[in-house]
Amino acid sequence: MQQMSNKHLGHTARKRFGQNFLHDEYIIDKIVSAIGPKHDDNIVEIGPGLGALTEPVAELVDFFTVIELDRDLAARLRSHPFIRDKLTVVEQDALKFDFSQLRQSQKKIRVFGNLPYNISTPLMFHLFKYCEHIQDMHFMLQHEVVQRLCAKSGSKLYGRLSVMAQYYCSAVPVVMVPPSAFKPAPKVDSAVVRLSPRSLPQYAVSSVASLQAIVTAAFNQRRKTIRNSLKNLLSEAQIVALDIDPESRAEQITIAQFAKLANAFHNASQ
Ligand code: SAM
Repeated sequence: MQQMSNKHLGHTARKRFGQNFLHDEYIIDKIVSAIGPKHDDNIVEIGPGLGALTEPVAELVDFFTVIELDRDLAARLRSHPFIRDKLTVVEQDALKFDFSQLRQSQKKIRVFGNLPYNISTPLMFHLFKYCEHIQDMHFMLQHEVVQRLCAKSGSKLYGRLSVMAQYYCSAVPVVMVPPSAFKPAPKVDSAVVRLSPRSLPQYAVSSVASLQAIVTAAFNQRRKTIRNSLKNLLSEAQIVALDIDPESRAEQITIAQFAKLANAFHNASQ
């Protein structure tokens, strides 16, 4: 079989930066339509790469910010013959970027990106901290990660990422993307998800740290009953008092129930 070249538009894809470049115009159009940029939106793209999404978005908006870690790609965008005047190129690690600085008084940020798959989960957890400043996020991810983001209790894919993402945001898959849409082609299917931060949390939680602690402990030992997996955080009596079956396993606990467990843990540790 012919070896797939990892060179695209004169740039050799760098594995350590998770570089898989989109080249399928039909898919690119679908993604840009799903994002629906308006000319005066406050937009930021994470990982613009060679500009597959940046160029069509630049046709629709007045200005926007792009965050790119690869020095060569950032330099290419700064000297892009057609769109450089519309871009503020930030050459930085998006994992360390303070997204609140992009908030423009009433105008929240719209974030999008074909994310490097090796850092997509920590990057989403980083962004959740800035939800109050974010209008929406559209991310290309491995299809399985999109399924986990959107999974409901009772599903095998329901886990820490599902609970924390859905605590902060509503999550909907919007475009399916085959490996052939990228150069080099990844081994797995991809999909674009829309994450819309909730203006009011759907479940009242006294402290997000308590929710994180409960959810992490429950899913670290997902085959155990929550009586066992949460035993260092809550007693069986405390779980029963919340009307939750201590024999349940983590994947059966709804987000509303996780919120109750988190509040009981928070109150007990005050
Ligand atoms: N948006 C382009 C596309 O769709 O063809 C490129 C997508 S490629 C999957 C991921 C991009 O993110 C690359 O350009 C890569 O250099 C960049 N990147 C990797 N790690 C990053 C980080 N920590 N912060 C910002 N950009 C990063």
